[in-house]
Amino acid sequence: MMESRYRIIDLQAVAYNFSLIKSLVGTSLIMPIVKANAYGHGLQEIAKFLQDCGAHYMGVAAIEEALFLRKHNIYIPILVLGSFVETQIPLFLQNNIECMAASKEKLDALNRYAQEFKIKAKVHLKLDTGLSRLGVRSSNAEQFFLHALSLKHIEVVGIASHFATADSPDRTFMHEQTERFYQACLLFEKYAGRMPLRHIANSAALVQSKDTHFDMVRPGIMCYGVYPASWMRNVIDLKPVMSLYARVVYFKVVLAGIGVSYGLTWRSAKDTRVITVSVGYGDGYPRALTNKGYVLLKGNHYPIVGAVCMDQMMIDIGQASAYNGDEVVIIGKSGTQEITVNDLVDLYGGSPYEFLTMQTERISRYYLK
Ligand SMILES: *Cc1c(COP(=O)(O)O)cnc(C)c1O
Repeated sequence: MMESRYRIIDLQAVAYNFSLIKSLVGTSLIMPIVKANAYGHGLQEIAKFLQDCGAHYMGVAAIEEALFLRKHNIYIPILVLGSFVETQIPLFLQNNIECMAASKEKLDALNRYAQEFKIKAKVHLKLDTGLSRLGVRSSNAEQFFLHALSLKHIEVVGIASHFATADSPDRTFMHEQTERFYQACLLFEKYAGRMPLRHIANSAALVQSKDTHFDMVRPGIMCYGVYPASWMRNVIDLKPVMSLYARVVYFKVVLAGIGVSYGLTWRSAKDTRVITVSVGYGDGYPRALTNKGYVLLKGNHYPIVGAVCMDQMMIDIGQASAYNGDEVVIIGKSGTQEITVNDLVDLYGGSPYEFLTMQTERISRYYLK
């Protein structure tokens, strides 16, 4: 790779994480979540690979992502997790894409279009068990279910909800949501005489408690080898999928007392060697890591000095040597050292989810089979 910044996506690591999920959830189905360009890892490649790994369903946030998947030979069921507007309904029905219905009104609209198309709309009924984002409050589930069952052109495929606090070591509220979900689903079974696919677990929940697995799980971030929260590193061993590299593009000696980068927020205490590295916030590397982050060069770690710029940042390498073109590890391994996404976000109080999805398309991706 001659580029000055690039990512390696290790598909074997995806396979490893997927099989780990499989061993955790037993017979529950697996719906890997590939929204937001597979958390920045490349929607087409990741979805294709997960389908080959044996994923049962594919989960995305928006209908556009689902249509992209259909166009690229994803033939397993696809569920759009987010909500939709009425004008998008034909796209769901024409492309055999399943949706989350989060209100009676959405159900009515779906039913109307499905009648017109002379088919049944495949829906997952969305319950709000405590996140207060989308869905009918689980205390009102009964009327919602009865309404769904009364509509001729609605096929209830699943019932779903989402956790608010699954990544917290305090499981109290997660258990409360699980219990509300469980009870509501029993009501559906009572009226329908059958139980649809129940699913509520994200990565954190499926790791924390088997009670959350139900009939299907929806792991996102853990497929990519990143932990929902850093403390979970002690609970499970994932393999990181993405590594990020940049290059040394300049070398200089900075004399004692000289300031570096915009605002001169860092000054060298003594004469030192500073390299300029070809990655910045324009690539999605957080500016919040100014004077906080570090990189790996030939197995050693060195601090970022001064403000992270749009396209570059400066690294103090002390008395070490470096040459133009040398590879710098931004995320990944070098010798015995490693920098993970969770390591970096902890330095500035960031979110690993946000970090992954902030990576911009300027950094090319290479897939390691
Ligand atoms: C994003 C998302 C997930 C996946 O969450 P992770 O924490 O990445 O595992 C699951 N369900 C819904 C509804 C989501 O929006």
